Amino acid sequence: MKQSRLLTRLWEFQNKYGYIPDVAISEIAQKLRVSKIEIEGVVSFYHFFHRQATGKYIIYLNNSIISEFKGFHEVKAAFEKETGCTFNEYSKNSLFSLFETSCIGLSDQEPAALINFYPFTNLTPKKVVSIIKDLKNGIAVATLANNSKSKIQYTPTEEKTIFFRDYETGKAINNLKYLHNSEVLEIISKAQLNGRGGAFFPVAEKWTYCKNNTSKLKYIICNADEGEPGTFKDKALINNLPGLIIEGMIISAYASGAQKGFIYLRAEYQYLLNKLKDTLAEFREQHLLGETILNIPNFNFDIEIQLGAGAYVCGAETALIESLEGKRGEPRIRNSFPTDIGYNNKSTIVNNVETFAMAARIIELESDFISKIGTLQSKGTKLLSVSGDVAKPGIYEIEWGTSVQELLELCQATAPYYVQISGPSGECINETEFNRKFSQEDLACGGSVMIFNRSRSILQIIENFIQFFKNESCGNCTPCRAGNQILFEKIKKIKQGICTSNDLKDVQQWAQIMKLTSRCGLGQFSGKTFSMAIDKFDDYFNLKVTTCNNDCKVAFDMEQAVSDYDELIKNTQ
Ligand code: SF4
Repeated sequence: MKQSRLLTRLWEFQNKYGYIPDVAISEIAQKLRVSKIEIEGVVSFYHFFHRQATGKYIIYLNNSIISEFKGFHEVKAAFEKETGCTFNEYSKNSLFSLFETSCIGLSDQEPAALINFYPFTNLTPKKVVSIIKDLKNGIAVATLANNSKSKIQYTPTEEKTIFFRDYETGKAINNLKYLHNSEVLEIISKAQLNGRGGAFFPVAEKWTYCKNNTSKLKYIICNADEGEPGTFKDKALINNLPGLIIEGMIISAYASGAQKGFIYLRAEYQYLLNKLKDTLAEFREQHLLGETILNIPNFNFDIEIQLGAGAYVCGAETALIESLEGKRGEPRIRNSFPTDIGYNNKSTIVNNVETFAMAARIIELESDFISKIGTLQSKGTKLLSVSGDVAKPGIYEIEWGTSVQELLELCQATAPYYVQISGPSGECINETEFNRKFSQEDLACGGSVMIFNRSRSILQIIENFIQFFKNESCGNCTPCRAGNQILFEKIKKIKQGICTSNDLKDVQQWAQIMKLTSRCGLGQFSGKTFSMAIDKFDDYFNLKVTTCNNDCKVAFDMEQAVSDYDELIKNTQ
């Protein structure tokens, strides 16, 4: 057995027994010739692997902020009452186990839960009573589950729609017959395609690095692990246009010379697994995957699906590669790009679902079509997942350059006050910024837009975000592990009414320290929203601050204490 099979093997045990028994740990350790502790380390990293027995039905209730505002607590109480179980505890109940989980990609249909990984959406206490009753009566989970498809709420005019237009299998890749790989890279470059996962790295540049790598074996990885709370647009692409994503991967393989691809699908989307498998089978049948694709000599490429197991940090490309190799999904220390040292130390391209889909459309429609849409630096359209206090939550395909105000009108936001762009690690904006435009020049949104009205507590939003980061930190670096805990303590102080203006300054300093010293994006950006909110919603936070009558003196000057370290970090960057 290869180490890279580890996650799949663990899923087999998890699905068979409802948990990973000791015998599985011993068996796997023996086959891999590693210690049992090493296997335990991998199992403990992923939220969806259990080491204790669970009930026949494992219920994961999403605890994101959207869910909280839409009735999470009432639904949670109903599940506990109807099952007799307590959330996040293992019990002797042979039927049910209850766990909270972070965003499951259903923010437009909250409160939502996964029961044995089938989606249940728009839950109410009444619905919970009926679901649990039906499960107790032996009705199959699959028949009770919802159609969780997100509604495509908006696409631009036909001349400007890129993603949600008619799709014909093989239409994009058919053009490869007439293009040299360097011409493919030129077209992608001319269309100014940047990665759509949030980092916006130029795609043609990344693919060229891989093409120029002398390694004989190269890999393409599609990151289908969108875990940023509030994001569900990649799920919509997998649901509606799985072939387009696969074509994007094939184009990438052609351009770079890669022979093998992986789709790393987040476990929360495993109800889409068969759809992806069927699409891959269809491609193989039509000789669009496999050997000598499209009769192009030496063009051999095939794709495998790997299921994740519940770890937000695996959305970071090097963590995802580690996970794919069958290890704990801990981000690597950044001293090279995956195009140099990637999967199994070979040159690897990692792009997300939307990026591959866009690449396929560029080759199908040609770069001139794309170049006419968008702004100077942001070409084409962007998919947004819109949720929160809006009448029309769902998927929006907007032209880059669309303003926040225009989006608020499209989704019929009700008295918007606080908008969170790109999830908790993105940025928050207030009413004075609603004229800002979605674009790489201004608001470079990865895909999540959460909208809150004035009745919502900003503190509750921030608390939910920090709790999320605290849970999801892999714990490897101190600034992230300790920093998120410290930020959480500051929130507790605000709630207790004992927060001073110095605490708010501390928050901003910690956000900066975490940004400069954390290894990956999780730690680098987990303090960003809190820090920004203190500035952008200063009236709100000023009301939360206690004025100290005793002439409080700063006993410890953190700025001074870390100044040498700060300097050192800056000089080594
Ligand atoms: Fe892990 Fe946080 Fe460090 Fe990222 S920043 S490697 S999540 S501890």
